[in-house]
Amino acid sequence: MLRQPLLLLARSTTVKNLVSSMPVSSSIVNRYVPGESTESAVDATRTLIDSGLHVTLDFLGEDTLDREQADHTVNAYLELLAALSEHNLARNAEASVKLSAIGQALPGDGEKLALENARTICHAARNAGTSVTLDMEDHTTTDSTLGVLRELRKDFPETGAVLQAYLHRTEADCRDLAYEGSRVRLCKGAYKEPESVAYQDRADVDKSYVRCMKVLMSGQGYPMLATHDPRLIDIAAALATRYDRTQGSYEFQMLFGIRPDEQQRLAEAGEKVRVYLPYGDEWYGYLMRRMAERPTNLALFLRSLVSKK
Ligand SMILES: Cc1cc2nc3c(=O)[nH]c(=O)nc-3n(C[C@H](O)[C@H](O)[C@H](O)COP(=O)(O)OP(=O)(O)OC[C@H]3O[C@@H](n4cnc5c(N)ncnc54)[C@H](O)[C@@H]3O)c2cc1C
Repeated sequence: MLRQPLLLLARSTTVKNLVSSMPVSSSIVNRYVPGESTESAVDATRTLIDSGLHVTLDFLGEDTLDREQADHTVNAYLELLAALSEHNLARNAEASVKLSAIGQALPGDGEKLALENARTICHAARNAGTSVTLDMEDHTTTDSTLGVLRELRKDFPETGAVLQAYLHRTEADCRDLAYEGSRVRLCKGAYKEPESVAYQDRADVDKSYVRCMKVLMSGQGYPMLATHDPRLIDIAAALATRYDRTQGSYEFQMLFGIRPDEQQRLAEAGEKVRVYLPYGDEWYGYLMRRMAERPTNLALFLRSLVSKK
């Protein structure tokens, strides 16, 4: 019931300014975002890797209409990738990139700029010994993002895609992308989308997730199953058996701070598990999407907002 208003608040500048005055050390923010600096991201990455997990890092920042801000984001990724390489973490840690944070929405040649910027980041990732996954945003960007992916994969075939099970089109997109070497993250989808393009009912989204998972797990690519949903995780394990997939020929992905015990349990059972680790000072939109998924966290969040701890 609270999901839609929270997703709207995620875009409110007034609330953003209020909430952003909270220090990132506030307990609820810290649960989902380990820090604002490259150093804090590298520290958190090291801790996760030491406990047997893999990592994908997201420098927070989206919807930029400002070329300088896009450049700032590119530079943050370059600094991050150099630091991962320097600390010998790049083998187990990659980067997740939102095209809207590197210029996709700029009027005129935004898509071209985002492609160039993404290419720069992919180059740095390859030099560091790792890869990039392109996050997926709202449905108005899906075609553009898949177009940029196709271009990038000509030079960097290791670049990962993300598909969202709540979109009607996604089962077909899974079929297109289930080819050898193709890394595809499947998630439910985090944006507020209209009925014309997306399933609205949670049960329908879950059914679509299962259909998409079947396509990916029976295909030739490398599925990255991004969900915390216990039923879907069980179904994924059953599909791995059905399609003779060995552990490590697919992976589970979860967000930093969400079901950490399950992340450990799966890793200890021999599964490859990757944690999505967001960092940076633009944590507001990300945090509000997590609140929308789990409104019971809201009480804790509001308490920390009032006490500004
Ligand atoms: C690695 C990763 C990458 C992602 N990348 C994208 C992307 O590029 N584009 C995009 O649109 N979305 C992305 N998402 C978000 C995704 O679309 C969902 O919004 C989010 O994962 C919640 O869906 P769920 O599958 O966990 O199922 P849900 O039905 O939302 O949750 C299942 C269970 O997980 C637990 N849980 C879920 N969320 C929370 C929370 N916030 N706090 C505490 N417990 C919780 C609860 O136990 C819940 O019952 C990503 C998710 C992950 C894990």
